[in-house]
Amino acid sequence: MTGAGITRERCEELDREDPLRHVRERFFVPDGLVYLDGNSLGALAKAVGPAVAEMISAEWGAGLSGGWDRWFYAPERVGDRIAPLIGAGAGEVVAIDTTTVALTKLLGAALAARPGRRVVVTTATNFPTDLYALAGVARLLGDVEVRMVDAGAVADSLDETVAATCLTHVDFRTGAMFDMAAVTAAAHDVGALAIWDLCHSVGAVVVDCEQDGVDLAVGCCYKYLNGGPGAPAFVYVRRSLQELLENPLPGWLGHEAPFDFTTGYRPAGGVRRFVTSTPPIIALAALDAALDAWAGVTVGAVRAKSVAMTELFIATVTERLGAEFEVASPRDPARRGSQVSLRHEQGYSIVQALIARGVVGDFRAPDLCRFGFTPLYLRYVDVFDAVEQLVAVIESEEHTEERFRARRPVT
Ligand SMILES: *Cc1c(COP(=O)(O)O)cnc(C)c1O
Repeated sequence: MTGAGITRERCEELDREDPLRHVRERFFVPDGLVYLDGNSLGALAKAVGPAVAEMISAEWGAGLSGGWDRWFYAPERVGDRIAPLIGAGAGEVVAIDTTTVALTKLLGAALAARPGRRVVVTTATNFPTDLYALAGVARLLGDVEVRMVDAGAVADSLDETVAATCLTHVDFRTGAMFDMAAVTAAAHDVGALAIWDLCHSVGAVVVDCEQDGVDLAVGCCYKYLNGGPGAPAFVYVRRSLQELLENPLPGWLGHEAPFDFTTGYRPAGGVRRFVTSTPPIIALAALDAALDAWAGVTVGAVRAKSVAMTELFIATVTERLGAEFEVASPRDPARRGSQVSLRHEQGYSIVQALIARGVVGDFRAPDLCRFGFTPLYLRYVDVFDAVEQLVAVIESEEHTEERFRARRPVT
């Protein structure tokens, strides 16, 4: 359907046949822009602005502190809306904190739940913030060993000293995807807990925490969930573990009865105990409204379109620019998330030149041009046009111009 030699007309036809074509209208996508960076910051859903404005004027402005009767439950309410996207049940997810903070909490909880085991297994290629959080927890506790292994060697590295695995399901550099069920089962075989970072998975690939036996997970909501810059993250705690785990960063809003103001801490029941502080209600209102864009949309349909798009992109790039770029993402779509990374020595300036031509991707050092595919608001013609522009950059050698070489702080 989407092999090499494809024409723009064929892509237009694919867009007409696309079961998700109507969803693009739920977003603002600037005219003429091909946005392949939704894996970094998702697009703005049209429902978000009015919902946030309404929340501010009606709930905060007019309702003032009376709003807390409703706001108090926002972490669970929004969490319950995220749950179906990761194969979790109601009462297993809260929207709180940021990914790094949430992961720090889960690591502390997992280590406390496995006394006598002091090893956490991760990969050196994990997202750096996850590694920093892990190193921070290890320093704080003093006796924790962070065991870094290759992605392919995780199962073999497990033994009865391992408290938990801490892995990112879809690699942010290459898009390579772990077999979550297999690795989780391997962790369980040695009695370890499996913690997954779902930042590049939620809203992009099919995730089934329930079926795969996942113990704990975190993910961010400003990528494929379009919750906006700095949107709260989410925490998933398997129901059967909720009463067994303690939040290592307890705070009053995770207390069983915060307004009793008791001296001693008693954790709330369920996943609520992982809440620490007053939730960011305005940001949660934005995320809540962004999730409306999923009405009538299944993750399965999103994944099918995502695979078709990444296959189309890889086939076209290989055909037209195969000598210039190495495809750094897995060729097997079953092992690939919703992004394609192309390796090139001058990757940074190529991405800059592409952006100047209205095709937004990003760059990950030292040499990866990264393109994210967000089926909710991308069209097949966008994929086609992106490759056309990439060909134009390479053929004109525009990227060698001085103006595209100066590094910005955010790449
Ligand atoms: C984007 C991303 C994060 C972001 O962490 P924050 O603390 O929310 O800024 C963490 N982990 C991974 C794998 C990511 O891709």
